[in-house]
Amino acid sequence: MQLLTRATRVAGAARQAWGGTGSLARVTLDNADNATDATGDHTASPYRLPRSVVPHRYTLALQPDLESASFVGHVIIDTVVNEPVQQIVLNADELDITEVKVGGEPVGFHLHATTERLVIHSAQAEGTTAIEITFAGTLNDKLRGWYRSTYIDEQGVEQVIAASQMQATDCRRAFPCFDEPDFKAVFDVTLIVEPHLMAVSNGPEVERTEFLDGTDAPTGKVAVRFGETMPMSTYLVAFVVGRLEATEPMMVPREGTVGEFIPLRIIHVPGKGHLTAFGLDVGAHSLAWYQHYYGIPYPTDKCDMLALPDFAAGAMENLGCITYRESLLLADPAAATQFELQNLADVVAHEMAHMWFGDLVTMKWWNGIWLNEAFATFMEIACCDAYRPDWLRWTSFSLERSAAFEVDSLASTRTVEYPVEAPEDCDGMFDVLTYQKGGSLLRMLEQYLTPEAFQRGVSHYLSKHEYANTETGDLWDAIEEANQGTPVRQLMDSWIWQAGYPLLSATLDGTQLVLSQQRFAYGDTDDATLFVVPVHLRIDGVDSKVLLSDFELRIDLPSSASTVVVNAGGHGYLRVAYDATLRSRVLGELDGLTIIDRYNLVDDAWNEVVAGRLSASAFLTFVEGFGHTRDLAVWQAIAVGLRGVGRLLDGDAFVAFQKRVAALVGPVVAQLGWDAVPDESDLQAKLRGLLVGTLAVLGNSTEAQQHCRTVIAQYDQGLNPDPELVSAATNAVAASGTDELYDAFLSKFRSPATPQEQLRYLYALAEFPDAHQIERTIELAFSGEVRTQNAPFLLNRCIANRHHGVATWHALRQRWTEANDKFPGNTIVRMIDPVKLLTAPEVVADVQSFFSEHPIAQARKTLDQVLERQRVNSALLAREAGRLSGELLA
Ligand SMILES: [Zn+2]
Repeated sequence: MQLLTRATRVAGAARQAWGGTGSLARVTLDNADNATDATGDHTASPYRLPRSVVPHRYTLALQPDLESASFVGHVIIDTVVNEPVQQIVLNADELDITEVKVGGEPVGFHLHATTERLVIHSAQAEGTTAIEITFAGTLNDKLRGWYRSTYIDEQGVEQVIAASQMQATDCRRAFPCFDEPDFKAVFDVTLIVEPHLMAVSNGPEVERTEFLDGTDAPTGKVAVRFGETMPMSTYLVAFVVGRLEATEPMMVPREGTVGEFIPLRIIHVPGKGHLTAFGLDVGAHSLAWYQHYYGIPYPTDKCDMLALPDFAAGAMENLGCITYRESLLLADPAAATQFELQNLADVVAHEMAHMWFGDLVTMKWWNGIWLNEAFATFMEIACCDAYRPDWLRWTSFSLERSAAFEVDSLASTRTVEYPVEAPEDCDGMFDVLTYQKGGSLLRMLEQYLTPEAFQRGVSHYLSKHEYANTETGDLWDAIEEANQGTPVRQLMDSWIWQAGYPLLSATLDGTQLVLSQQRFAYGDTDDATLFVVPVHLRIDGVDSKVLLSDFELRIDLPSSASTVVVNAGGHGYLRVAYDATLRSRVLGELDGLTIIDRYNLVDDAWNEVVAGRLSASAFLTFVEGFGHTRDLAVWQAIAVGLRGVGRLLDGDAFVAFQKRVAALVGPVVAQLGWDAVPDESDLQAKLRGLLVGTLAVLGNSTEAQQHCRTVIAQYDQGLNPDPELVSAATNAVAASGTDELYDAFLSKFRSPATPQEQLRYLYALAEFPDAHQIERTIELAFSGEVRTQNAPFLLNRCIANRHHGVATWHALRQRWTEANDKFPGNTIVRMIDPVKLLTAPEVVADVQSFFSEHPIAQARKTLDQVLERQRVNSALLAREAGRLSGELLA
């Protein structure tokens, strides 16, 4: 899946506590073999089915009724019986089972609700047997299993789509199955539908026949049969039925063949075909690129990408039938910002990466979900970087690494991998530590080994384990096998099974460089965690690599005047603290550094402020030395720091700070030009958008504010100003917007030209300046008009509003039960994330005590992190606000 939101959720079973132990303990996962005792008692493990009966093929027929939001189904599961059993146990939940036959004979059965199991009363000897089950179910509104999504068509009529989302354990809500990732099987799916509806599943359509009733009379429906899948996990099964349209297939060559092609389509609600070209282009690029990178042809027959109006996750890698939110697949490139297009390209590339890594080779159990997602994150960046080299995707990935650092600097961070017993224990893995930290660690490994060596290892891993299931260590071993001599497993284990990351100190001792490591923390720490750190050095312009596996390492330098860049290239998952001498030498040669190196200098400096080792005032002076830079990423790091500094101030001191911001940013805007320049790079246009927005809001520049109003007026007149300026100006004018403007934005949200424009206007409603406007926005979020997949993120932005965050918090606190009832469970903690920015002591006390009484059960760890970060920010305020205000007003 992709990280926008996650679709896994908490089942009724009690959650198992897990603790990041910080040790290198490994987990034994093979105990599933003992999940049943000798008498066949299936309750031996509530989470793992017995392995005595194993499925290898499902023949599934489903007949949805969109109007009544229900379905009936029939499945034949061909199984192998490995040892004699008294009963057969599989998964089923929220299904009405009407009949079960084994070997053609009706047999008894019962449902076990707590474990979501169907227990079939049928003793079996070793051999093979077929289980036949007839059942019925509901197309639910919970965006999981087989669910109901809706849209309003051109005639204003509500249309229903039956859509599916199975990961992690919701396939059992669509049909009875052995719902664990290592029960791979072939799926032969038939959907029985009204002839005017489109039906899509994992395989290509291979047969379409009139569907007859029991007396061979026509029913008016058709049976659409799909080609059987490769052996795959249940969480990858998909079927979608509704009034939909498909693009003409793009024919992408199949690697290793002559004249064979993979048909690639986008499927969407009617009337949105004009928004498909970009998604198809990225999809075709990704298919070709991965076949080449992995050295393995695309593993199935066709590739459909579906844009769904209601979708809890960002996107889902169902084999050959990838589902997306509309905003992550449909776009108008002429009207979208670089970020919106890059985000779309990232997500498409991410899901395509999973077709091999995840679908062809799959984790044995849910503890492996982190590697599945971390790897897809790494590959999405690599693939996107190849798609649009001018976007410098590995450079902008620095911002994502910083997002991981933010959480990983806290005492309440977690280890990347941890033991998972119940499937819902892996819910906590869908966070920045899995995606952004995991992806960063793989980038660090790749850079240490060299990209070629890493690719060789990945390709070896995939071909060695194709159609099978693996543990994390299998990847490290495969990379090691393909690259003799590098201790990959030892190195990676130190990062995967230990929380946090190191601060590398670089000091000069005569003609020696002394590198030492200490776990980074906000505040003092005596944590003795030791990482095996691959360090890239540039000494007097010469690159080298060392492995720091102890607390200290001494390296001889050519001279005591040598210049040393630590973490050269910037891909290490670490921060650097230079001593004063080395630091001044590095700053003296800024232009010789990569953009990521410069980004890291600013990002490290801001985090030293948060950690209490650098004053906010010194940081401000430090970034004022970057006025000459034109690197987008460096400015993004500066903007993060400036926003953080701004949060420390109010009154006259804030006004004085705004003047400093304007003095820093204004000349850069003047030099770039206020409007787009023909043929400039996407990143320069994006830099202008960032700086104009910063100047207007944080710099309080009337000139910039006026320019933003002009841009919006031009946009309203259809004059097509640059999308970067439009996007920045939308937020900037909202920040000082009238009620009239609020109404105008609301109506644009209601009838947008593109999914991206809709989100832009929706989220701008959280930026307005007056209390009653934000109250309207909060009401809107709860009204049902905003899809539940977006409403929590609208509230998130209201909490982040500098002026009305506290009021929003109070409103949300009042409506906590309602929010939890209405919004997807996986979005709740992300909704309240900006409470970390509310730092007044009485608000901190209120937030902390509220959550001690209202824990977010499905995201306990993430909530702990938000609360700790709030305390860190509050301490920062107490430490710096008075001192900085005094200096600004002096
Ligand atoms: Zn994913």
